Amino acid sequence: MIDAGLPVRAFFTTRDGGHSQEPYASLNLATHVGDDPTAVVANRRVVSEAAGAPVTFLNAAHGVRVAWVTEVGAEPPPADVLISTTPGVALGAIAADCVPVLIHDAASGAVAAIHAGRPGVYAGAIDAAMAALIDVRGRAAASDTLSASIGPAICGRCYEVPHDLREQVSARHRAAFSTTSWGTPALDLPRAVETRLGELGVTAIVRVPLCTREDESLFSHRRDGVTGRHAGVIVHP
Ligand SMILES: [Zn+2]
Repeated sequence: MIDAGLPVRAFFTTRDGGHSQEPYASLNLATHVGDDPTAVVANRRVVSEAAGAPVTFLNAAHGVRVAWVTEVGAEPPPADVLISTTPGVALGAIAADCVPVLIHDAASGAVAAIHAGRPGVYAGAIDAAMAALIDVRGRAAASDTLSASIGPAICGRCYEVPHDLREQVSARHRAAFSTTSWGTPALDLPRAVETRLGELGVTAIVRVPLCTREDESLFSHRRDGVTGRHAGVIVHP
């Protein structure tokens, strides 16, 4: 587990400490990747124990859908952003190259977990999460009590994309424009997320500087194809 550096309990899981066999070894948290469901249940229990509450895991819709979680352990519909103002609720965003993002708002107490993949970043998943958080807090509070943590993701030197896709995404998110270490068009999604959070008024931003493709302690869909998923988890106190 990697501490997310937020004022509430929040962390990112790695491959370590679970029950799954290769190619999902060992702490795979996704049910949709072909792993033994019994192992995934056991793995999710490991993470819930670390969180101190049953974690509600996000099923990504790969867009800008927001789901509110109002009960501990609830199962919301597919969404790209989970948000809660309910004490004791634990939210988890799973990923394996896409960017898991956790946000805490000290003004309202709200927590959010976001799956920011390439389609979600492009469509505005960060904006959707921030809009929901600002809606909760109202207009009175200062913006400097929002803090965010950007988890392990494929980096801008590794995430190769076709030339046209780099043009399309970076036309909207300039910070996403990148080049691989081998000189081909790429996207830097973590940098795009960090930039967008800053533009929307988040000043306290923690960034876990690990690349999923380069670091074998993390799952990477780009590196391994069939593989598991790790998660970012945040708990409402
Ligand atoms: Zn990398």
